[in-house]
Amino acid sequence: MTPRATPLHPIRFYRDHRLTRAHSSEYIDDELGAEDRNRIEEHTHLCASCARFLASLRRTVLALGLLRPIGSAGTEVSDGILARLREEPDLGEDAGA
Ligand SMILES: [Zn+2]
Repeated sequence: MTPRATPLHPIRFYRDHRLTRAHSSEYIDDELGAEDRNRIEEHTHLCASCARFLASLRRTVLALGLLRPIGSAGTEVSDGILARLREEPDLGEDAGA
């Protein structure tokens, strides 16, 4: 029964803060193991800065079209989309591919 609303363990908070920043893109790409993922999720509940950071990173990635909705895609899909984007010089043009 430990309250989670405040960072009771500053060292752990700082460590998770660094983890969140260091692995934010893996987190968004759903590439992290359950343990790191849980730590980041717990941390973002305590750290408004990281919550904002992740939200804006997620928005950016989505806006760039590198990712499908959260949880349904990994980097393989992202890489595939990137590869296709590089192959297609004119997006939106019906080239019959
Ligand atoms: Zn943080």
